[in-house]
Amino acid sequence: MTRIAFIGLGNMGGPMAANLVKAGHAVTGFDLSHDVLKAAEASGIKPANVLTEALADAEVVVTMLPKGQHVLTVWTDVLRSVPKGTLLIDSSTIDVDSARKAHAMAADVGCLSLDAPVSGGTGGAAAGTLTFMAGGSAESFAAAKPLLEVMGKKIVHCGDAGAGQAAKICNNMILGISMIGVCEAFVLGEKLGLSHQALFDVASTSSGQCWSINTYCPVPGPVPTSPANNDYKPGFAAALMLKDLRLSQEAALSSGASTPLGAEAAQLYALFEKLGNGGRDFSAIIEMFRETK
Ligand code: NAD
Repeated sequence: MTRIAFIGLGNMGGPMAANLVKAGHAVTGFDLSHDVLKAAEASGIKPANVLTEALADAEVVVTMLPKGQHVLTVWTDVLRSVPKGTLLIDSSTIDVDSARKAHAMAADVGCLSLDAPVSGGTGGAAAGTLTFMAGGSAESFAAAKPLLEVMGKKIVHCGDAGAGQAAKICNNMILGISMIGVCEAFVLGEKLGLSHQALFDVASTSSGQCWSINTYCPVPGPVPTSPANNDYKPGFAAALMLKDLRLSQEAALSSGASTPLGAEAAQLYALFEKLGNGGRDFSAIIEMFRETK
């Protein structure tokens, strides 16, 4: 049994913390939202009224927060309160520079740290089947792994500080670009009188195959479980795809990488969100291409 402080109990953090409770760990939770904290309490998480209350006696602190600025603010407060040797795990999706800064802050006071963003969405968080992409020292990874295994089914140590975030945004940049490519191909096929099924049967077994077509096909029919069959309810919301694409572009700028298609994908998703589609599944972007004359 490990004593865990879990900070940020929203759509992802709530079910992740609940799985730690189910596995027999003592979890105290803190969230700025009273309603979120109340919901977490129903899953056996002990609610804390203030951050420091959650940290008392904690051996491990997990954060699951919206953005880099939130993580840096919370980690600054956490590192003021916890003893040397405490392990801090951040599973939020944040920019690589903030992740590296957070690691450096932890190292300054002798704490262990891991960036460990996830993929698998809220369904994976509830089922305990997330994929964790971790960055940090071998010692931090070894200490965190048993807890990550409670919340996920695939745990990959990607390298040193920030490597987990780097892997996450590179993967999601591929996903954003490939989804746009698949959507364009289906719209072109429609104009050429090709049925969705025929294009799927060919492309999903030929050199066009990829996750965006084989598993998450953006038109209804060929893959019955894809969000296209459910009025594009997410799934993975377009606003989150846009967030990750923007993070990839920040990282490309600060590292000097050339990512022209990543930049184009970010612009297309920004337009899609501006048109009121941020809450829809990211594969619904196919409709924007149909409407473009
Ligand atoms: P969410 O908005 O549902 O939850 C974030 C929670 O953090 C909120 O409850 C908020 O009140 C709390 N919070 C914000 N600032 C705080 C602070 N200073 N102290 C305490 N609590 C604070 O978001 P989410 O969907 O759970 O996503 C969390 C992170 O996971 C994000 O970085 C997101 O990009 C990433 N992510 C989300 C998904 C998904 O499908 N939702 C998938 C993979 C990764």
